[in-house]
Formats: sequence, structure tokens, C-alpha cells
Amino acid sequence: CGIVGYIGKRDTQSVLIEGLKKLEYRGYDSAGIAVYTNNGLKITKATGRLANLEHKLEDAPLVGSAGIGHTRWATHGKPSDVNSHPHTDHSKKFSVVHNGIVENYLELKDELISQGYEFVSETDTEVISHLLAREYNGDIVAAVQKAISYMRGAFALGVLTEYEPEKLVAVRQASPLVIGIGDGENFIGSDIPALLNYTRKVYILNDGEMAVLTKDAVELMTIEGNFISREMINVDWDA
Ligand code: GLU
Repeated sequence: CGIVGYIGKRDTQSVLIEGLKKLEYRGYDSAGIAVYTNNGLKITKATGRLANLEHKLEDAPLVGSAGIGHTRWATHGKPSDVNSHPHTDHSKKFSVVHNGIVENYLELKDELISQGYEFVSETDTEVISHLLAREYNGDIVAAVQKAISYMRGAFALGVLTEYEPEKLVAVRQASPLVIGIGDGENFIGSDIPALLNYTRKVYILNDGEMAVLTKDAVELMTIEGNFISREMINVDWDA
């Protein structure tokens, strides 16, 4: 029920965990993070409290320069480690966190299965990771746009691929998402309080909009790919 994302020079894992703690109030049944490490994209997830995830990460920390995190409120598929986010594809090169519901996921799942894609979870979300793998042609932004053109429903997404680890892609379609601007680092979060430990400069995304973050820049566009300019908000309140 919450999304965070980070790209920059800090310890990515702790930024993600701290952000997820701020989103705990929204309720959740499991949690997970994906980090781009020296060994590629790595995912750790755990059913239950964030403490369970933290415990796993103590034994095997994920060290890297970009990552996405999620607290899940299950809508499709029971709470379990495998149904937790981030989800990935067979190649393990793509990771996605998702809040909301992909309404036509069964139809998409049937199509993907008939094309040879293998599913490991019971979630609606997993169709997104396979769609990204299918549509990827060297440009993750184009792949995200193509994938969501097939999807109906409510979604906020965070996407990270090992092929372009210097980019974090965020999408908002009827589920909240904000972008935090830092100095040599940028953030995504389901709400502003999740970002306030790190920055007070934010962009609010509207429905049908997406953002492409690198550590030094944020580009905002519609999901059709038209660039937009937005006033940055300076948050002067505390959570
Ligand atoms: N529909 C997705 C799932 O059940 C996302 C739920 C959420 O918003 O946390 O996995």
C-alpha cells in the first residue's frame, strides 16, 4: 500500500526502509525492496512486519545506488513472500512495485502465458514485470509506456531495470505518487511524509503522468510521452 524509490549516493537500503516506515500507517501485510547492486538487481521481501524484512537484510544487506521499495496490502493473491513486491520477470532484469489493481490482469496473464512467460505469483502486479520484459527494446521509458498502454485500472508504479540502472521510472494513474528532489539524489514516495527526512522539495504527479529520475535530474511527462513542466513545491510543514 506504499511505494518508495531512491537514486543517489546514500545507502539506498536505509533510505528505502526509512521511507517504508513512514508509510506503515497506511496498513500492509508484507514488504520488500529491489536494489541495483554490484551483482545486478537484487530483491529481498518478507511477509509480515517491516522488521521481518529488516531482519533478512541484516543477514544479507543490499548495497547499491538505486532502489525501489513497497509495503503491500494484498488485493490479488494471499499475503506471502512470493506474492510480495517488488516483482520481476524470468530474466530478473526488471523490477516493479505497484499500488492499486490491474483490472484486466487475467486477460493479460493468459496472453503472456500463451507467449511463454512463466508466472511465479498469484498477483495482478506480476503481469507488469513480464510486459516490461516483452516490450523492452533498449529504452525503459518506452517499455513502461507500452506496458501501461495495455493495462486498465488504478496504479502507482516504481520501475527499476538492471539494463538502465541510472534511471528510476515512476507512474501515477489513480493511485498517489510524489517525487522528491535532492542534490545529486532524487526520490519517489506514495506521500510527502515518506520523503521529509531527506528533502522538502517535491513535485506532485497527477493522474496520467510519469517521471524519469536520474540522480541529477527529474523529467516529468504524460504517460503518452509529452513533456510537462511543473512548479516545485517547498514543503514547510512537518509530518
Ligand atoms: N494489487 C497488488 C497486489 O495485490 C498491489 C496491492 C497494493 O496496493 O499494495 O499485490
